[in-house]
Amino acid sequence: MSELHKFLFEGLPVRGMLVRLTDSWQELLRRREGSGSFDAPVRQLIGEMSAAGVLMQANIKFNGAVVLQIFGDGPVKLAVTEVQPNLSFRSTAKLVGELPATDTGHLPLEVMVNVHGQGRCAITLDPKDRLPGQTPYQGVVPLHGDHREPLHDLSAVLEHYMLQSEQLDTKLVLAANDEVAAGLLIQRIPVEGHGNLAGGARNEDAIGLNEHYNRIAMLAATLKRDELLTLDANTILHRLFWEEDVRRFDPLQGANGPNFACTCSRERVADMLRSLGKEEIDDIVAEQGRVEIGCDFCGQHYHFDAIDAEELFTGADAAPGSDQLQ
Ligand SMILES: [Zn+2]
Repeated sequence: MSELHKFLFEGLPVRGMLVRLTDSWQELLRRREGSGSFDAPVRQLIGEMSAAGVLMQANIKFNGAVVLQIFGDGPVKLAVTEVQPNLSFRSTAKLVGELPATDTGHLPLEVMVNVHGQGRCAITLDPKDRLPGQTPYQGVVPLHGDHREPLHDLSAVLEHYMLQSEQLDTKLVLAANDEVAAGLLIQRIPVEGHGNLAGGARNEDAIGLNEHYNRIAMLAATLKRDELLTLDANTILHRLFWEEDVRRFDPLQGANGPNFACTCSRERVADMLRSLGKEEIDDIVAEQGRVEIGCDFCGQHYHFDAIDAEELFTGADAAPGSDQLQ
């Protein structure tokens, strides 16, 4: 069962979360089998993105989707994870061309998405009930560090993002194979009333609070990918933090935990087809007999035959404003 564990270090300005996606992650991979499975290194990348996305969604109080996107300049053009406030998630990737061979099923970012140093990672917070004119918040970071050194792993990219965009010290350990996608997040809680930008970080150094975060982050960094994938949450937290006073919260699991869910629907596909215009749709129907759209996230196929296609533009449910200008 997929699960999310939240915990605090008693009396210290440090919090943590551990996520293990099992059944939900396996379902995501299974759904894709019909429409072309991902290569092993891509599975690992979107597994890590799924785990990271759930951690980021659970880490903020925000009523909307957290969207993690990597825009690649290598064989992987796009990798994306979307996590809703109820922790349901979906992920996909778009590969163009071939990945280099690998025996381990692992490839670093610079081989998949950052071949020319142009790869980007975008984190978007998309409010659920967006007001007119309101735009989603988006932060974008490159896939290299401050000295142009390529970052090999997603965890390093997101740590960099958290520090740059959120002024939050964060340690992330991520791992994924075909059974489990998992992540550990350790974060320094900002001290109330001290804006980090206003020199708060320096003050905290002075009063010794960083020392605790640094110690706990270092313990977290000793967690091996293999341990994260194979050990249960209790064992991991005990092994890492047995000398610390850890306060655990009830895990979020089952219906309350992370689940795979796709937000695609026939109506949304219909809206998308309407936006292409009647002429375009008529052309496709004339050529192929019908319009067929497959969802990249869940593998669901939507068919619109000639009559369905006609109804897109004449039916009672045709969206207002979808009429093409003559
Ligand atoms: Zn779908």
